[in-house]
Amino acid sequence: MSDRLSHQKTHVGELTSLMEGVVRKVAQHHPQADTERLWHAFRLAEQAHRGQTRNSGEPYLAHGLTVADILADLRLDPDTVVAGLMHDVVEDTSVPLATIGQEFGADVAAMVDGVTKISEIQSANPEARKAENYRKLVLSIAKDPRTVLIKLADRLHNMRTVQYLERDRQLDMALETMDVYAPLAHRFGIARIKWELEDRAFKLLHPERYFEIESGINQTRAERERAIEEVRGPLQAALQKAEIEAQVTGRPKHFYSIYRKMQAQRIGIDRVYDLLALRIMVATKADCYHALGIIHSLFTPLQDRIKDYIATPKPNLYQSLHTTVRAPGGRHVEIQIRTFEMHERNEIGIAAHWRYKESSRESTDFSGLVGWLRQIMEWQQDVTDPREFMESLKIDLFPDEVFVFSPKGEVFQLPRGATALDFAFHVHSEVGLHCSGAKVNDRLVSLAHPLENRDKVEIQTGRQVRASRSWLEHVRTSRAKHHLRRWFRQTEFEHSVRLGREIIEREAARHKLRVQFDAALDDLAQQMGYSEGEKLLAAVGAGDLPWQRVIARLQPVAPTTTPAGRVVEMSRELYATLLRRRVSGVRLQGVDNLMVRYAGCCQPIPGDEITGVVTRGRGVSVHRTACSNLRNIEEERKLEVTWDVAQDQTFLVKLIVTAEDRRTLLADLSKVIADAGTNIQSGDFSSANDVAQLTFLLEVRNLNGLERIQRSLRRVPGVQKVERFQIR
Ligand code: MN
Repeated sequence: MSDRLSHQKTHVGELTSLMEGVVRKVAQHHPQADTERLWHAFRLAEQAHRGQTRNSGEPYLAHGLTVADILADLRLDPDTVVAGLMHDVVEDTSVPLATIGQEFGADVAAMVDGVTKISEIQSANPEARKAENYRKLVLSIAKDPRTVLIKLADRLHNMRTVQYLERDRQLDMALETMDVYAPLAHRFGIARIKWELEDRAFKLLHPERYFEIESGINQTRAERERAIEEVRGPLQAALQKAEIEAQVTGRPKHFYSIYRKMQAQRIGIDRVYDLLALRIMVATKADCYHALGIIHSLFTPLQDRIKDYIATPKPNLYQSLHTTVRAPGGRHVEIQIRTFEMHERNEIGIAAHWRYKESSRESTDFSGLVGWLRQIMEWQQDVTDPREFMESLKIDLFPDEVFVFSPKGEVFQLPRGATALDFAFHVHSEVGLHCSGAKVNDRLVSLAHPLENRDKVEIQTGRQVRASRSWLEHVRTSRAKHHLRRWFRQTEFEHSVRLGREIIEREAARHKLRVQFDAALDDLAQQMGYSEGEKLLAAVGAGDLPWQRVIARLQPVAPTTTPAGRVVEMSRELYATLLRRRVSGVRLQGVDNLMVRYAGCCQPIPGDEITGVVTRGRGVSVHRTACSNLRNIEEERKLEVTWDVAQDQTFLVKLIVTAEDRRTLLADLSKVIADAGTNIQSGDFSSANDVAQLTFLLEVRNLNGLERIQRSLRRVPGVQKVERFQIR
């Protein structure tokens, strides 16, 4: 027997004994489990990974086995354990996903697929690929939450063996763990995995701080244990006297949570020894409150530190009572009180769902944990930018929340970093869309104002207020972004439909064609490849479909024969015209003013000959027919338009005056303009080599008025040229 072969044999032996442990645990918690199926998975995975080793030198399958073992410890069902065992098979060996489906069923295959990275994407952008992988993972979790447990167990073992990687990879992995995996563990209530992930990542990211805390804790251990005992002893006795069966234990504080506390409260390591923590576990919920009363009769509580997470569980279903009391010597002790069952659920979160499935114990509703994720995925559907996807995902996943109040005292929970505008959308999408202002703690703030714990937030709304594009930069939650995007899409569509309808209606009338805005339009739309009439109109209005093509398909209006018929028709047209005129102050005949913009390049004013251009998605822009920019525009986009403006309407127009420079030139020109009864909106003046150039932005009613001013200006001594501004 060669050395290599005997080496491999030893490995198989080691792996087999690891697997025996896994099978034993599964069988213990799931007596009905088919253990042969587990062994079948083991053999398949062992063959697939044979010859592969991890950086540690261990056979590769040791990783899958450890993941399966972590899952078995969480007492998960055999399917999850099998999927954990096989989780890297598809990504790292030649076994296809289909084989796993055939051998172990669709559930196992879907879980394995969920944790398998997308490698086919040939994206040059690693950021995009990473975001795509997260998106896939999150979708799989929403479909089957057991996927998250496998991914977390996978990450946990990878973090435990991180020392075999290059320093760069270690840091990457630590950052990703802090950004994504620890928050995921938190949101699904799996405290046990969350703490270990955080402490391991913290140790890599801030080794000095980690060791500082470690040595600080070790040096003060004896003293702290004595202080804890001073509280624990009397407490245990009092609980016994009240006949509450309770387990009172000192509670290890995790290094990362100590670090966060030091950061938040700006305290030094010298005060870390002060962080004393106790946990009391009792049998029933009633005992929890009873115990709380007893604690408070023995020690003075800090009033603002009492929290009832039993009546109001955290979103991840965490339940416990929290209080902080003043111990003898003035130290503060944090105490948590909970039932044994709550404790178990606080530790393993959503995993408890599969643990209790087969027993008749009180079942918890875990649907909210996954519903939340589904909602986020729905809100993020339209996000195509990988950076934005990641940023929103992090914010929605991030464990930190702020609690704020409405003026009526209702509590709202938002992710940290949420703004006043996010709050408005949280109250209701309509409140968000019509938000006109916000007050935080009775002070006016901007909509982008970030909220803090305990803020009282009041939102002002106005019927006339409409969300603007810039608001997307003022919100951070997926919910608000989703509602804003949907609203913009909707209004854009409605505007385009209206504009398309106006154009078609008007052109049809001009060409004496018949257009019916009913089922006939739907038919026409379908002939032209649109699912319905409105979509066709929207395409015309958005500039995607030239109106000429629609007009070409319309039927001529049958001539009205009888004189009576002609009278009816004429009066109908007159009535329609009157209706149109009543709607607006300014309008271009036939086209709703809301959708009209005057081109900045040539600034048309009434009296100018004008041409409309259907732009892509931005309505009609109106140019002077003489504007040089029109030459580059396709004929199909052009639209005949005429002026139809209200009497008192004024238009802005820019004049450029060139003149010999002299002292009173500006005053003389201004006087001429003022004498004509015209306002100067703004002016600009420059001079070189005794030649001055002056720009005036004027308010005029029409071309006649403008020409009058131009003539007067030309008569001012020294003036050489008076031109209308035009960008070429
Ligand atoms: Mn893995």
